[in-house]
Amino acid sequence: MTAVATGSDAGTLAPVRAFDAFLGNPADDEAVVSTRRSVLLDERSAFPEDEIAAVTAFGLQQWYVPAAHGGNLGDALVPLLMIRHLARRDFTVAAVHGKTFLGAICAWVAGGEIATRMAGLVDTGSPVSWGLTERGRGSDLSRSATSAQIGTGTVRVDGGKWPINNAVRCRAMTVLARSDERPGPRSLSLVLVDKEEADPATIGYDAKVASHGLRGANLAGIRFEGSVVGADAVVGPAGHGLEIVLKSLQLTRPFTTGLSLGAVDRALQTALDAAAVPDGARGRLLDSPTSRRALGIAVADALLVECLMLVGVRSAHAVPGEMALVSALVKFLGPDTADLLFRDLTRLLGPRALIVGSEGSGGLHPSAFGAFQKAARDSRVVGIFDGNSVVNLNMIVNELPNQLRPAAPPPLPEVLAPLRADVEHDALDTASLRLVTRHGSRLLRSLPALVDAVDDGRTSRAAVDAARWILGEYTALLAEAGDLPRQSQPDPLAFHLAERFALVFGAACALAVHLARAGTIPGPLGESNAWLAAVLQRVAHRLGTDTVETAVADALLDAALRAHAGGAVTLLPSWTERS
Ligand SMILES: Cc1cc2nc3c(=O)[nH]c(=O)nc-3n(C[C@H](O)[C@H](O)[C@H](O)COP(=O)(O)OP(=O)(O)OC[C@H]3O[C@@H](n4cnc5c(N)ncnc54)[C@H](O)[C@@H]3O)c2cc1C
Repeated sequence: MTAVATGSDAGTLAPVRAFDAFLGNPADDEAVVSTRRSVLLDERSAFPEDEIAAVTAFGLQQWYVPAAHGGNLGDALVPLLMIRHLARRDFTVAAVHGKTFLGAICAWVAGGEIATRMAGLVDTGSPVSWGLTERGRGSDLSRSATSAQIGTGTVRVDGGKWPINNAVRCRAMTVLARSDERPGPRSLSLVLVDKEEADPATIGYDAKVASHGLRGANLAGIRFEGSVVGADAVVGPAGHGLEIVLKSLQLTRPFTTGLSLGAVDRALQTALDAAAVPDGARGRLLDSPTSRRALGIAVADALLVECLMLVGVRSAHAVPGEMALVSALVKFLGPDTADLLFRDLTRLLGPRALIVGSEGSGGLHPSAFGAFQKAARDSRVVGIFDGNSVVNLNMIVNELPNQLRPAAPPPLPEVLAPLRADVEHDALDTASLRLVTRHGSRLLRSLPALVDAVDDGRTSRAAVDAARWILGEYTALLAEAGDLPRQSQPDPLAFHLAERFALVFGAACALAVHLARAGTIPGPLGESNAWLAAVLQRVAHRLGTDTVETAVADALLDAALRAHAGGAVTLLPSWTERS
């Protein structure tokens, strides 16, 4: 699955840097995605037409198509980072364009003829949507009422989906529909409704949904009234719709961290810039110990999300059989941490965090604060779509017995290998995705070994002590989980436990990234392990112990400010090593 290569991921990520260069400097009004225009469009709830056209002309969609089907998708970190780079400029543009990846993914999981057909569709640059949810049924996909009558030569689709990203704009939609009236796991199928195949008169739309975030997106309802497509439009075997969707979500959930991180990048950039500029008689936030601490903690939160992103995508390549759990852990903790970061930075920026448009920016780019509050609103959607936070916690609860099942932890080098910078990743092995894991997450099982490895005499006491404290919490959590009664509807205590498991998983991700990437973390963040100490103390605080020490927050902030001045606050090389 993974093979050690001679190069580093700096080479693998060259297309990301090329895309970043193409997008240009967002402070420049002439850039492909400029901050000023992005804020103005959002205020008018206007669709970012030109931006989407430009990104499509660049060919971003080719990175959504697996190489086996003629596209560029090999290492999934590449499109993930492209989405991040787009989202830090304008989350709406990234969510609107990236939706095609979600719309197409069921075809990659299903494989066969439909995957070839989907590749052709995506290659045209036309949007492909994902029609899962229905009005009044929300997250409960098994209740889908949209029907698919699968005949010998045709499929007839009736019903409606809502709210759907790109509902009107899309050329085609992968629709989850009931193909069997009898209840059960095999009663739903997936149908590719190509609007150029079905009679347009049989497809109607509900009005654009006015939304708090993603204002400019083409969010609407779609109605199928006897829409007929060929029987070859069934995605995967008939009756396997729910299974294919659940497996696909295991890949799309880590993918959404790219959106979260883009928003987080934007927030940090605004806060670090604003903190360096005197604000009237109060002076600079950077000179206030309270503000410095808040900023240091925000940086730690951002780096935790980055670690989750890296582990999520690398696990999809290396341990697809664990994604039922890993994707839920990542999808719960990523947006939850991003939401926390926005809450804290909103408090730090004060009234400026609520300013719309280009007023009151001081020495900053005129739209800086407008972009901050747009990112704050937009990013809230990540915790809602592709399975909301409650759904993901429920999945973690269901997985706890598997995590508890006795199994030896794999050798540490094996656990760390997929995260190393010098490892090449083959195509995603969608055939190895499983609805339930055998033994939960190997990274969680490796926590004692990770903690021992980091206690190497070189890593700071602050990091090691926090790691040991978290390990103690994990041991207690395992015991609590073992005592949980098996229930079809878990009680709130189980959800609380799942939340704590996710936090421990976050700490394991940070430890693994630190150990796997020693010597390859770029710029000032790589000069010490201040970042690790701050992330671990932050996680430990969320688990119930003391808050991040002032010295630890300060050290990370200093490194982050230098990284920010040189490009970006990141553990990855993609922005800082320009080719
Ligand atoms: C901007 C945006 C874009 C979207 N784009 C798409 C798209 O392109 N395609 C698509 O298919 N969908 C899309 N959606 C829909 C999104 O995926 C749904 O909002 C989500 O799946 C529905 O679930 P929900 O958690 O929002 O709401 P609900 O399912 O109504 O849940 C609300 C709350 O109640 C809880 N709950 C619900 N039922 C139960 C129960 N039986 N027992 C206990 N608790 C329960 C949930 O866990 C949740 O906490 C989009 C939504 C938004 C906001």
